[in-house]
Amino acid sequence: MRAKARRSRRKGVVVTIDGPAASGKSTVSRLVANKLKFLYIDTGAMYRALTLAAMEQGVDLKDEEALINLISQIRIDLKNDQKNNLRVILDERDVTKKIRTPRVTAQVFYVARAAGVRKEIVKLQRKIARGKKAVVEGRDIGTIVFPKAGKKFYLDADFKERAKRRYRQLREKGIVPPTLKRLEQEILKRDNYDVTRKVAPLRLAEDATYIDTTNLNINEVVDAVLSYII
Ligand code: C5P
Repeated sequence: MRAKARRSRRKGVVVTIDGPAASGKSTVSRLVANKLKFLYIDTGAMYRALTLAAMEQGVDLKDEEALINLISQIRIDLKNDQKNNLRVILDERDVTKKIRTPRVTAQVFYVARAAGVRKEIVKLQRKIARGKKAVVEGRDIGTIVFPKAGKKFYLDADFKERAKRRYRQLREKGIVPPTLKRLEQEILKRDNYDVTRKVAPLRLAEDATYIDTTNLNINEVVDAVLSYII
């Protein structure tokens, strides 16, 4: 009995939440993690932090080898405060806000499409979650990063609703948003990149619970997710 308990502690517990851009994953994942007292891991923030580092250091985003080399030279940390608000630290500098700017958002696909880069970032994600209880959100978490996770979710919403949510979110973060029309186009473009890329495309894991959040508020989505876990 005791050995079994020790083993399960070492193995950790992972809840995966995947879905397209602005589907509410981040807020829902953070709140679900709060409720369960789990760690919250935002994997998109890691792809964003690497993109920012490459842009700042003048590394060619189309050069996969250079990006892999860059990963070995930088340090990306995700820190949760008591409310599981995430701080993203790049080489000891807080870049939480900087990684959300439209410039980074527009370029992150270069980093996300490179197989060698993903391999390194996935290693880092598994290391961060090892032995822990965590809610991990992204695009390939239930399919590639933690395919054996016990609880998997896929959050979706109509793209017009997602554009509205992203608009509000950017304003709340103090970032001047593009027009709604422009955001809709960007979201469709990012959906297309995420779904059609060769490595780790966004897709619904066979054993994931699909939740359409278009007509649900955040609390309703959180309650729906928790109802499958608790
Ligand atoms: O979730 P977020 O929009 O912050 O993610 C930024 C980008 O990182 C996405 O557009 C997606 O292409 C990429 N990403 C990914 N795999 C993940 C998480 C994010 O390819 N697990």
